[in-house]
Amino acid sequence: MHAITSDSGYVDLKYQGMPYLIATGILEADDGLMLVDPGPETAFDTLTRALEQNGASLSDVHALLLTHIHLDHAGAAGRVVRAQPDVRVYVHERGARHLINPKRLLRSARRIYGDAMDQLWGDVLPVPASNVTSLTGGETIAPGGRSLDVAYTPGHATHHISYFDVTTGTAFVGDVAGMRVDGADYVLPVTPPPDIDLAAWRASLDTLRRWQPDRLFLTHFGAFADVGRHLDAMARRLDAFAEAVRTMLDAEKDADAQADRFHERHIAAMRAQVPESLWAPYEQFGRPRESWHGLARYWRQRAS
Ligand SMILES: [Zn+2]
Repeated sequence: MHAITSDSGYVDLKYQGMPYLIATGILEADDGLMLVDPGPETAFDTLTRALEQNGASLSDVHALLLTHIHLDHAGAAGRVVRAQPDVRVYVHERGARHLINPKRLLRSARRIYGDAMDQLWGDVLPVPASNVTSLTGGETIAPGGRSLDVAYTPGHATHHISYFDVTTGTAFVGDVAGMRVDGADYVLPVTPPPDIDLAAWRASLDTLRRWQPDRLFLTHFGAFADVGRHLDAMARRLDAFAEAVRTMLDAEKDADAQADRFHERHIAAMRAQVPESLWAPYEQFGRPRESWHGLARYWRQRAS
């Protein structure tokens, strides 16, 4: 049938022309395809073309499984629904209202991205409420007859969920298991403001372990079969990141200078362990500088 859909395939959205940044997971169901995190609106045409190159098309898509609503994961959801009005969109209940009315989400994104907003994220369309299925975690859903367990996995975002495809043993974990580029071993936590919650994040990693998946599918970027090693590395580095930021906050005041220092240190650590051909995606999307600010905010909130 569709060459792309051998169990759990994915397409590289070649976001901003760059490979290995954003992967959309693809699952074959009885009545068509499901996409895990369709990606940013600006990659909609690439997504459509990639489906076609693999013998499928957007009209085969029956469901979107969103891990969370950040624009690099879910920005294209409204565009997909506009093209295919019967598509069902699964999302955590706390993300649902921002899909249905993205005004607030877009306002805060514009504060961060400024003039680059449109070029990066495009025209983010609302998803009609009637297309949205809200989840809390703990459900088993069966879109297209394909059974998926849903777990609440906060830490990176308060509304982050993960999906476990029982048939293939693949856990679709969005950003909760960090970023790692296919072909590298290095696991990098991505901890931008404003939602970072360390205790919740650690518990989420344990939730993933309890599924005993055969592989983890990371939006950034790809599928990895060394699940235990990956999750251990993620937990260790997340703790190390958090501890480093906490210590820096105690020591000095100039936040931007500290964030720069943290950034340089962790980019250097990444470069020491990753083949040079894969540095770019880590640097584009790993962004330790932003992670510093997310963790600093976390510690400041706990202190106040
Ligand atoms: Zn992401």
